Amino acid sequence: MKNNINFRNFYVNPRVADELLPLIKMARNLWSTWDPDAFRLFNRIDPILFRKFDHNPLKVLQAVPCSRLDELSQNSGFMNEMKNVYEKFQTFLEYEGFYISKDGKKCKFDPEFKIAYFSMEYGIHESLPVYSGGLGVLSGDHLKAASDLGIPLTAFGLLYRYGYFNQRIDLDGRQQEEYIENAWHSKPIQKLKAADGKDLLLTIELKGEIVYIKVWNAFVGKVPVYLLDTNLEQNPPHFRSITDHLYVADRTMRMLQEIVLAFGSMALIKAIDFKPNVFHLNEGHSAFLIIKRLQNIIQDNNLSFEEARNLIKATTVFTTHTPVPAGNEEFDTQLVKLYLEKEITSCGISFERFSEFAQMPENKNFILSALAIRFAKYVNGVSKLHSKVSREMWNAIYPNLYEEEFPISAITNGVHVQSWLSRQMARIFDRYLGTDYQHLAEKESSWQNIHTIPNSEIWRAHQQRKEQLISFVRRRLQNTLIYRGASAKKVSTVLNPNHLLIGFARRFASYKRGALILHNKEKLLQLLSDAKRPVQFIYAGKAHPADENGKAVIKSLIDFARETGMEHRFVFLENYDINIARHLVQGVDVWLNNPIKPKEASGTSGMKAGMNGAVNFSVPDGWWPECCNDKNGWSITSGENIADAHVRDTLEANEIYDLLENVIVKLYYDQDKNGLSKDWVEMMKNSIHDVGSGFNMHRVLRDYLNKFYLPGYQNFADLTENNFDNLKQLQQVQDKIKQYWNKISFKKVDTNIYRNQHIESGYDLNVKAEIDIDGAPDYLFDVEIFYMQNKNSWKIIPMTFLKKENKTAYYELTSTIEGTGKQGINVRIRPKPVFQHEFEEYIKWYY
Ligand SMILES: *Cc1c(COP(=O)(O)O)cnc(C)c1O
Repeated sequence: MKNNINFRNFYVNPRVADELLPLIKMARNLWSTWDPDAFRLFNRIDPILFRKFDHNPLKVLQAVPCSRLDELSQNSGFMNEMKNVYEKFQTFLEYEGFYISKDGKKCKFDPEFKIAYFSMEYGIHESLPVYSGGLGVLSGDHLKAASDLGIPLTAFGLLYRYGYFNQRIDLDGRQQEEYIENAWHSKPIQKLKAADGKDLLLTIELKGEIVYIKVWNAFVGKVPVYLLDTNLEQNPPHFRSITDHLYVADRTMRMLQEIVLAFGSMALIKAIDFKPNVFHLNEGHSAFLIIKRLQNIIQDNNLSFEEARNLIKATTVFTTHTPVPAGNEEFDTQLVKLYLEKEITSCGISFERFSEFAQMPENKNFILSALAIRFAKYVNGVSKLHSKVSREMWNAIYPNLYEEEFPISAITNGVHVQSWLSRQMARIFDRYLGTDYQHLAEKESSWQNIHTIPNSEIWRAHQQRKEQLISFVRRRLQNTLIYRGASAKKVSTVLNPNHLLIGFARRFASYKRGALILHNKEKLLQLLSDAKRPVQFIYAGKAHPADENGKAVIKSLIDFARETGMEHRFVFLENYDINIARHLVQGVDVWLNNPIKPKEASGTSGMKAGMNGAVNFSVPDGWWPECCNDKNGWSITSGENIADAHVRDTLEANEIYDLLENVIVKLYYDQDKNGLSKDWVEMMKNSIHDVGSGFNMHRVLRDYLNKFYLPGYQNFADLTENNFDNLKQLQQVQDKIKQYWNKISFKKVDTNIYRNQHIESGYDLNVKAEIDIDGAPDYLFDVEIFYMQNKNSWKIIPMTFLKKENKTAYYELTSTIEGTGKQGINVRIRPKPVFQHEFEEYIKWYY
């Protein structure tokens, strides 16, 4: 505003006739952003506005003239459609989830079973821009799938005034960041009210100063999401701005954000009297909440620090997403001390002793993932490969555990089918698969009929999406600076639906090697400009505002297209978001992914593309090794195990050109007279089947439910019953273990295998062990054989307790040597688990 006139602003909602109220109800639930029928209904109100307002139903209702609403309420066709969609919505909300018990019975969830889920970002829909990339989209899909399956989950996060940022590319091809304030009144979120009808205000303390927090509530189907916001007049400016931007570079500010996320969420849980029993920390950003949980458990129940820690551990799920040490959130320990010392010492532990939980032998910063691992029984990486890398990375936390048994398991990511599958494909699937795949996506049998779909139908649906993608790209380009001077005619020649189209879109983090394709520009140019069988590319993605390298990569892509005159075949689409992602994964022929292995923890965009029939062309990193075979995509493997970065990049770039030229292009253009390549469509179908059945979010949620959520809830029930009886008992056992641990030792181990002996498979192994157990009761410890058959396969065989004489306990074992090759055994003493608690810190190996 130029002058100083102030207005008293207010918001006017449309006057909606009673019979249209279902529209408002649906528009206020994010369900309406992913359900295809709801999408069609809101699109019908005003297609132009719907597109203009990021497919946000609520905003369309606010913007459309009242006369149009009146007209619709008189239109029986519309009213019928609305009624049907609304019924579907209600059925969705009423759906009660189930789980399969150990004895195979279908059971309802216990009403007390409540999971609290924490994430720094949520990518639910383009109209709610509080996400930056893959982590956020994953959290968003997690909530949607939990909702589909009726899993009782409630989510907590932050509401960012400016979101991440809007990306503009200037005339020089450089990324510029625009920060546009979000207009919350037109978003499907509502301020949470206190009992007195006023806005609920939470407070937390930062270095003795009060921070006020307001809370916004959104609904992802049945799942409530609470988003915290410090942009309040009551706060001084330095607190007001805490929730301005996602992933600020300033370390202090970042820490304050994470303290607000943790302590604010915990304050909210108290304020609304919500009683979660399982806490899921999605990535380490929210790990400070462990401190508040300790404090609450200790103070509310008069328990000790160790008891509280054991309870937290038994009920906490931590998902790590970062296979590189530098990617894990960490802060200068002194900075953490400045803000959190008081909170920590109130738990009955010194700050220094507590910070050891967040440190590693070679890194004395305060590392949130390390803290989370030490306070969570249920830890997972997001693909098999990533879990393996994570186990190596964090092994020093329990250095006596064999690396492969370090408790970080794998739950490979997936994507929410309904959010990412194109309407064209969905229509075909409905017809040939039945609608099971929408609600039982995790069942392999839901996907089997893919192969019965006629090639021409799949191909036609795909071509339609491809054409829509291309129109979308042209529309978008018209608004970008670089193309602005160009004639409409020129823009209308960008991309050709009959030519092979390759997509590459993700954050421009260095490890993703966004410009690997430019490694040999002449070769690339040759592929692009082939007269008969050209290749086309679409690139999209943001670089973090502080990442100059990432911005240079973007510029190099844009410069290349301009310098070679290939702007019509090598396109960079600015401001990557969920909307662009959806268009891309539904419309391209090939999805390219070339990270530096093993730095991509999972990757999910390739799953979105794969289930739409795009064929993945990827380095076998993250999820891809679990899916790829030579029938559903291509792998880029020539750089494997090459340490020299330049050599590796050269080899992999050359392999990309080679596969493109000699395999992919040939297969794609091997078309019959209808323009269809039979073998190509075969690959599309394999891709849809393998990705759809293996990497959908329902499978992921079932895994979390069965492996983590339900056992965590059981632990909670066990440890809290009878005023924490079992928790206290666990503590007594732990004290005993501590008391005796240094006094027990191996006296003697005899085996009938000596070092480097050559034996035959089937050999009878005999082991006898004598343990000096001092005065320890023999039920406290197990003596076991660790039998290594090869690097990835081992067995733990408990030895049989024979007798105890004086202070010596005698154990024995007979077993059979199986398999062949180099093997090994060791003998070790471990405390027996109590109430599912494993004492990972305590292990004594014999050899
Ligand atoms: C799916 C998605 C991502 C994740 O992409 P990766 O392949 O995992 O890097 C990032 N951003 C958006 C907008 C997405 O939809």
